[in-house]
Amino acid sequence: MDQSGQLTEENGPEGRPNHMNKCAACYRQFNKVEHLVEHMRISYHSVHEPTCGICRKHCRSFESLREHLIGPLPKQECGNIFSMRGCRFCLAILDSPYALRLHQERCQLSGLNAGVLGRMANLGIRDNLTMDYSAGRNRSAPGYETTGIRPEYLRDAMPVRQVQKKIQDFLCNGEPMWKIRPRSGGKARILVGHGLDHDLDRLQVEYPSAMIRDTAKYPPLMKTSKLSNPLKYLTQAYLGYDIQSGIQDPYEDCVATMRLYMRMRSQNHRVEEYPLAADPQNRNNFASWRQSELERMTPEQMLDISRSDYYCWCLDSN
Ligand SMILES: [Zn+2]
Ligand SMILES: [Zn+2]
Ligand SMILES: [Zn+2]
Ligand SMILES: [Zn+2]
Repeated sequence: MDQSGQLTEENGPEGRPNHMNKCAACYRQFNKVEHLVEHMRISYHSVHEPTCGICRKHCRSFESLREHLIGPLPKQECGNIFSMRGCRFCLAILDSPYALRLHQERCQLSGLNAGVLGRMANLGIRDNLTMDYSAGRNRSAPGYETTGIRPEYLRDAMPVRQVQKKIQDFLCNGEPMWKIRPRSGGKARILVGHGLDHDLDRLQVEYPSAMIRDTAKYPPLMKTSKLSNPLKYLTQAYLGYDIQSGIQDPYEDCVATMRLYMRMRSQNHRVEEYPLAADPQNRNNFASWRQSELERMTPEQMLDISRSDYYCWCLDSN
């Protein structure tokens, strides 16, 4: 047993079978039910976590799911099945090796289909900084993203203030900034990018964080250490191709980021009316239940009232 009260043997100290105190999401086992309750309070398990297609274990990130399936120390039975019919890009399990071949071709190619990118434009500004933006004008993909530096655009650059206004106008799309609310169905655009804090900071453009989708900060795409993954790595691991192998091309980065966003957005997760722990209806779900009531719940019931502490991008599609 470790300090957190984890126990790996079959039975707990009171002879109570441990599966009673086994987290229904990550399968950690606790020798006391109050430890499981405590674990659930701080874990924010949800239907939006990357989940093993075989044993249904929830992981905090795709990287930890990848470790669970591929190694270096994979869970044996999941790893065996995955090696026969698991997609190495999206980590889904297919019905047969044949289905896998068809799927994996599409899965990788879907990254290569730039159909969502309706328009490209370059804006140069006088501040030794350039912004490339690509905008998905597709109805289902109101997207936009920034990246990179291209000195050759700086020669006839536009003044910073003008660029800021252009960007802000484009993002807000006619909606006053103060009125922009997440999931309100307004006209404001979603801003997609990789490491956007830096870009926005340099440009001194402000935009509500609820409208920003940053592939460097989306928990399922982060390292198990909770640090960001480089865009080059994400593109290689999830889309199966190389970027930034020679000179860094902002357009290439834009496209890769948008493809990652579309991939994450198309995740098929169970629809819930109030999906976030921060939704007022769920606020302190675990705090509002009395400890004794929580301790009487089954692990599945506890998982049922648990909600995500991050905004899953699948929520953009419904
Ligand atoms: Zn858990
Ligand atoms: Zn989701
Ligand atoms: Zn598994
Ligand atoms: Zn796949």
